[in-house]
This record gives sequence, C-alpha cells and structure tokens, in this order.
Amino acid sequence: MNGPKATPVHVCASTTIADALTAALVSGVDRLDAQLMLAHLLLQPRSWLIAHDDTALSDMQSIQYAQWLERRRAGEPLAYLLGQTEFCGLVLQVGPQVLIPRPETELLVDWGLAVLRDRLPSKGTASVVDLGCGSGAIALAIQHRCPAATVTAVDASAPALEIARRNAKSLGLPITLARGDWWSAVAGERFHLALSNPPYISLGDPHLAALHHEPRSALVASGHGLSDLYRLIDGAPASLHPGGWLLLEHGHDQGAPVRQRLQQVGFREVETRCDLAGLERCTGARFG
Ligand code: GLN
Repeated sequence: MNGPKATPVHVCASTTIADALTAALVSGVDRLDAQLMLAHLLLQPRSWLIAHDDTALSDMQSIQYAQWLERRRAGEPLAYLLGQTEFCGLVLQVGPQVLIPRPETELLVDWGLAVLRDRLPSKGTASVVDLGCGSGAIALAIQHRCPAATVTAVDASAPALEIARRNAKSLGLPITLARGDWWSAVAGERFHLALSNPPYISLGDPHLAALHHEPRSALVASGHGLSDLYRLIDGAPASLHPGGWLLLEHGHDQGAPVRQRLQQVGFREVETRCDLAGLERCTGARFG
C-alpha cells in the first residue's frame, strides 16, 4: 500500500465501476479489496461487477467509496471499513472494539466440532465455552454447525460482548453471553469443551505495528505472550467435566510451552496442530 505521498483519490459523481477500480489501482489499494467495497456498496455479489463495469455509482456511493479508499490506503482493515467479515461461512459484524476473526482460527473451530461429533452421538448434549469471544466468532460458528450444543461466550469487554450479542441476534443463534475475566465469568459451571483464541503476542513483537487498528487487549499478553494462555490452562481443571477438552490458539513459537503447561496441570492426549502455513497454531488436550 502506498504511503502518505500517494496521489489523492478522486472519485466523482459520474464514476462507473470501471473508473472506481482504476481509482483503486492509482491509489495503491488492492483490487480485491476495492471489488469487495463496490460489491458491498452496490449490494451485489463480486462476480456481478465484471459484467456491469459501466454501471455508474450514485453520488452517495461515490463519496463513501472515496472515503473507504483513503482509509484503506492509510492501513485500516477492510473488515472495519465494511463493518463485517466472514468466518466459517458466517457474516459477522465487526468494529474496532473486537479482533477481526482470522482464517487460522477456523482450525480451532473444526477441531472443536470434531470433539463434539465424537461426544454427541452417545451423550446427546455438550456444553461449550468460548473464552475471550470478541465478535463471538468461535462460539457462533460452533453453535451454527452444532445446534445440539449449549454454547456460552465470555469476554471481559462490554463493547465486545455487545457486538457478539448483535451477531447472535442477527444470525438467530442462541448462545449465552457472560462478562468477566476468563474462567471467573463462568465460575461454578463445568464444560465438555472450552476453546479460546486469547491475546498471545508479546509486547515487543514487531508484528504488532501492523495490527494497531485492532484492540491491544485482544492481541497482547505479558510473559512473552503466554500469561493469558497459562491462566486459561491453570483454571481449566476446575471448569471442565472429567474428560473435557481445552483447545487453544497460540503463536507459532508457543506450542512447546503450552504443551508443557498442559502436561504439568494434568492434561493428557496433548496435541498441537499446524495452520495452512505449516506453523504450530493450536494445541488441545483432555483433562482427567
Ligand atoms: N493471530 C493474530 C495475529 O497474529 C493474533 C490473534 C491473537 O493474538 N489472538 O494477527
């Protein structure tokens, strides 16, 4: 993406889709991002744009598009501009109060669904908790694909929980929301499956600079990024049913310390799975 010296974006009232895509090219905005903006503005699928590139935008659409190009060029994530993103096939509302769900996290959901498939045929029910739910992505994806599960989504942030509540409502998915710090939000309850994508980036990580639009509280943890992962592991025995699973997302270099902590606390069947880039991304285990 271009820096501040790039040509200002000019999108005028008679702008067609073809002109709008040229403006994106000139200002250094990704063509795919520009197409997604236009599809969103015109309420059409992206494929529609190709056969209709002489269609003119309305004044309002042109103004909105020009603003989005400027903000995108300045590094704001597309999901925040559009106010939504896709996760596990669900359209989720997102804003700067919550982390934008990442494709890697779908791995955690798939693993959770496999755990539930093994459990549900014989037992009929399963209680699930998503700790640090943000937009509600993990909890909602699990509830969507596994309607028989009872799903609770926890977050310490009231604004994040409000977004999760809106997503649950618009998707018609009956998850329960609880506010609080990790396990304390569901004290006294027990679950068959707990999942979390907690903050795990360490304070000095250079990768953070590119993520400054997202809430730091959802990204950064102390102790080399491990403090929240350790709290989740340490609190799990009191909150899981015997044989219950804990599945955690973590940084590519945190697999070993996460496995070690799980073993120290008494977990068994400790396993790490890699993301599509081949990096250690999720570790899970059973308690008791
Ligand atoms: N996977 C995210 C990233 O590195 C971070 C998410 C997190 O800290 N839980 O961009």
